[in-house]
Amino acid sequence: MFNYIKNIITGIISLCDGLSVTLKHVFRKPITLQYPEQKPDLQLRFRGRLVMPIDPEKNDNRCTGCMMCAKICPNHSIMEIEKVMEDGKPKPKVKKYIYNFGTCMFCNLCVEVCPFAAIIMSDEYALADENKEKFILDLVAERYNLTGKKLNWWKSKFKKEPAEEKVQK
Ligand code: SF4
Repeated sequence: MFNYIKNIITGIISLCDGLSVTLKHVFRKPITLQYPEQKPDLQLRFRGRLVMPIDPEKNDNRCTGCMMCAKICPNHSIMEIEKVMEDGKPKPKVKKYIYNFGTCMFCNLCVEVCPFAAIIMSDEYALADENKEKFILDLVAERYNLTGKKLNWWKSKFKKEPAEEKVQK
């Protein structure tokens, strides 16, 4: 008899426990979105795909062709980097940067290793395609433009030139 009453009380307590969780969620702001009509507000660090944005101050990309990103990429998704040549000498500027986001793991190592903040992960998503050729992109030719918060966040990563730092001191 004692056990019977004990089981009933335990059942009521656990029922109230479950209902309290349900009630909490009833009054909470919904976190679901009516996708694709509503788009998510993504975090700045979201890893969509690799892009080489145009630095508005230079009206060009910031890549020097140092190859550090290509060397660190674990699965060779940065397939080719070709430097600009002048009088037979390579310049710290690239004319071709071939990236395959079909093989990219979005590990972000290339972005982290780049000394010039020349590349960044975009906030694009839903990039699936049935044609694999479309995943191979020339990021230089693309001339990608960042806007808004993401642009400001990217610009905050630029290191000051040593000369610039001296002037400000
Ligand atoms: S993106 Fe950065 S790390 Fe890669 S080649 Fe250009 S400057 Fe070097």
